[in-house]
Amino acid sequence: MKRPTVLWGLGLALLLLLALGMTLPRDRRNELNLTEFTAALNRGQVSTAVIVYQNGTAQVGGQLEDGRPYRTRTLAADPLLNLASLQQSGVTVSYLAPSRLSVLSVLSVALTVALIGGLIVLLMRGRQSGGSDAAGNFGKSKAAVISEGQIKLNFTDVAGCDEAKQDLQEVVDFLRHPEKYHQLGARIPHGVLLVGPPGSGKTLLAKAVAGEARVPYFSISGSDFVEMFVGVGAARVRDLFEQARKAAPCIVFIDEIDAVGRKRGMNMQGGNDEREQTLNQLLVEMDGFSSGQEVIILAATNRPDVLDAALLRPGRFDRQVVVDAPDVRGREQILRIHARKKPLDASVDLGVVARRTAGMVGADLENLLNEAALQAARSGRTRIVGRDVDEARDRVLMGPERRSLVVREADRKVTAYHEVGHALAAQLLPGADKAHKLTIVPRGRSLGSALYTPQDRMHHTRAALLDRICVALAGHAAEQIATGQVTTGAANDFQQATSIARRMVTEWGMSSVGQLALEQDSGSYLGYGPQQGAYSDHTAQAIDEEVSRILNGEFQRALDLLGEHAHVLYRLTDELVARESLSGEDVQTVLAGGTLPPLSPDLRPTETAAPTGKLTPGPA
Ligand code: ADP
Ligand code: MG
Ligand code: ZN
Repeated sequence: MKRPTVLWGLGLALLLLLALGMTLPRDRRNELNLTEFTAALNRGQVSTAVIVYQNGTAQVGGQLEDGRPYRTRTLAADPLLNLASLQQSGVTVSYLAPSRLSVLSVLSVALTVALIGGLIVLLMRGRQSGGSDAAGNFGKSKAAVISEGQIKLNFTDVAGCDEAKQDLQEVVDFLRHPEKYHQLGARIPHGVLLVGPPGSGKTLLAKAVAGEARVPYFSISGSDFVEMFVGVGAARVRDLFEQARKAAPCIVFIDEIDAVGRKRGMNMQGGNDEREQTLNQLLVEMDGFSSGQEVIILAATNRPDVLDAALLRPGRFDRQVVVDAPDVRGREQILRIHARKKPLDASVDLGVVARRTAGMVGADLENLLNEAALQAARSGRTRIVGRDVDEARDRVLMGPERRSLVVREADRKVTAYHEVGHALAAQLLPGADKAHKLTIVPRGRSLGSALYTPQDRMHHTRAALLDRICVALAGHAAEQIATGQVTTGAANDFQQATSIARRMVTEWGMSSVGQLALEQDSGSYLGYGPQQGAYSDHTAQAIDEEVSRILNGEFQRALDLLGEHAHVLYRLTDELVARESLSGEDVQTVLAGGTLPPLSPDLRPTETAAPTGKLTPGPA
């Protein structure tokens, strides 16, 4: 029998026994009450008496003259039990030491103890030998196994991370031609860590490596190791690696490894024994490969900074492959991959979509095309047209339009001034991203928005950053110029402006405070640097002063700029109120003194807005 079955059997027997012990009726058939006993005694019918004194009572049992057994109970001091008088009545008397244990109860206690002991021994053994034999399948690795040749994915299904693919091509080569490397005495790397933001394709890439190398693929998530019971995670790691060694050459993929691989001893809640044991086991297993066992462990995380240093040592995850958010070319290729099975109309230009989706990762782009397909289906079309993609993008970014929301005319006008202020400033400042669409159709929680086409660039100059701050504050400035008062609609703009200004001072050394890395970029998945706030009060004050100096200066610049072009501000605002949305080209036209094509009465304004734009929500 397999051990789990034995275990179940034992447990069941234990339960039955306990139930039996509790429900078994005491045997009352031969019990005599005191009156009957006294009568029998007087009549000389009692032949033997065994007396047990206990806690002030006396239990008497024995045989009657006719051979029947009897039992009764009385007070210990009862004169009836006087030895001399009992003997006179012809009774053979004996005494027993008190004991509560009947044969049955002795037996059931013994059995119970044995069973519980057995259970404990079995559980402990399962834990120590680790494997498949703990209670049920507890210690099993839970890994999903895909055998070789089953994976149809390969590198052509992943786009936008060419460097990562190049690095991983080497891994594929190890798995395919290990001899080549052994001959040269090279140690094949066992651990490769894929690092990148969520949705950038790490999981996909790991699978593609297995598909390219045509080897079995074991995949498990870090959180599968983490269980309530200490030791289970470690048992699973052991089991996983045992299976993998048998299947070598193969790939083991541990997704979200930060769930187990966090720095040890850094957890606030006390009981992280389990995680530490699991991590230790993982380290032991990674060290335990002999040459000739081509098991490559890929792991993915978006938080490499929280990983335990021991995991990153040579021989373990000593290679890091960065899977970053794609650039514009990468985005276009990713869009092409996911557009393969979708009927696209000629009006969809994926190159343009790519340009307008800066900041999106692969998973976002896939979602975008899916939304576009849903949108097309909703409108009863059989192909996806450009408008579907635009709407999908806006929806993905900002939630669906809320045309039904009733906005007071005065609010619409203020919103229009605000958005035009952003767009106009963006158009006028060389360092700013240009707005490609502005609208006063409420969407999500905002009453209006301006969408910008960000330039893909790695470095921002100080001047460009100041221009961006100016644009962010320009909505507020426009309200002030046009209405003489300001509304609450600019909170988000201030946040954005403040955060740029603050980072200029504390991260990028762009102020008189100096070239210091004062704060770490906590949002970054590659964040290094000093802890937040690790500077003196004096420095903190200098930072605050510097930040507000930048913000005040840029707000004044926005006021000056828009005041200079006030006539354009008013004209654009009127157009925006009438049309609900304007394109970047419209803004340029009005700025250059031209006129916009007349509105045809039955066209929905938003839908006519020329080639619309892309997407990061800029200052709203
Ligand atoms: P991660 O593991 O990095 O969080 P995933 O690999 O799970 O991201 O990506 C989710 C989905 O997004 C994938 O299944 C794929 O459809 C799509 N995707 C993400 N990145 C890419 C990419 N670089 N190329 C093609 N598709 C991608
Ligand atoms: Mg993933
Ligand atoms: Zn705004």
